[in-house]
Amino acid sequence: MSVDRRSAWPFQDGAPGEFSYVREAHPTGVEAERKLGELEGGRALLFSSGMAAATAILLALLRPGQSVALAEGGYFGTEILMRDVLGPWGLKSLLFDQTGAPPEGADLIWLETPSNPFLTMPDLEAAATHPGKVVVDSTVATPIYLNPLAGGADLVLHSATKYLTGHSDAMAGAVVCKDEADYEHLFHFRHISGPICSADTAALVTRGLKTLRVRVERQTETAAVLAGRLAAHAAVETVRYPGFGGLLSFDVAGDPAAVERSTKLIKNATSLGGVESTMESRHRWEGDRVPVGLLRLSVGLEDADELWADLEQALASA
Ligand code: PLP
Repeated sequence: MSVDRRSAWPFQDGAPGEFSYVREAHPTGVEAERKLGELEGGRALLFSSGMAAATAILLALLRPGQSVALAEGGYFGTEILMRDVLGPWGLKSLLFDQTGAPPEGADLIWLETPSNPFLTMPDLEAAATHPGKVVVDSTVATPIYLNPLAGGADLVLHSATKYLTGHSDAMAGAVVCKDEADYEHLFHFRHISGPICSADTAALVTRGLKTLRVRVERQTETAAVLAGRLAAHAAVETVRYPGFGGLLSFDVAGDPAAVERSTKLIKNATSLGGVESTMESRHRWEGDRVPVGLLRLSVGLEDADELWADLEQALASA
């Protein structure tokens, strides 16, 4: 895989060619965008992080005074972005239960498939009949399990930091657009404001997409086994697992800090979507937005029985 790291490309006969300056677009990025666009069924744009992609959608496609209906129980950074960072600039946001119809009057509907860390799935059909534009953060489902554009969404967002790159060694975001006009607005916004990802990172997206299916299918098999065993464990109160993907969350009756610190194979770390399993209490970040005992587990590619043995011995300290 060749990575073209140039920041500028020679003009052709005195005029800019397809690539001229790296902040607008670069060949390694376009290659990754083409592959992701094919997988999602739309036109993709890469950003420097998932949050940069989310910010671009909000700033490029909305105006001050317009409103977003955001799925409650989803990635808490998105809620903070809308309320605390862009609220002072005139963005209105309200939370709603994504398993039902979105509230009337919202200019944009923001769903998460499934929500992180509550793992609910949205009623995409109901959202698609709403007059507002529909954005689906499909980071956790990945294009292997869901193509939201085919189900009526206008835009799909990915934190490519997670499953798309898949090895916990890159940060990137992506937006995939159904409509050409949205694509053009976002392209222009990214070019002028600058949150494109580097060529090296784009190459890691292309590499990650090559193994995405085998990784997430294996992670799903293991996560399903672990979800079943956790549900039957005496120290576990609730298990949340949508039936696909590598992410699950569960509540322990006792001390979650003792459990997360006791795993040996599973890393006690944040983030998700990597080949190595990670688990953490979400209360440290999200406060009372989540139950005190909630642990989020991102299942990697380790052996299912070894992971279960690690969880079982950790749960003994609950
Ligand atoms: N969306 C979801 C569902 C996430 O889990 C995250 C990060 O945890 C993001 C968006 C933000 O992505 P990034 O960390 O790449 O900015």
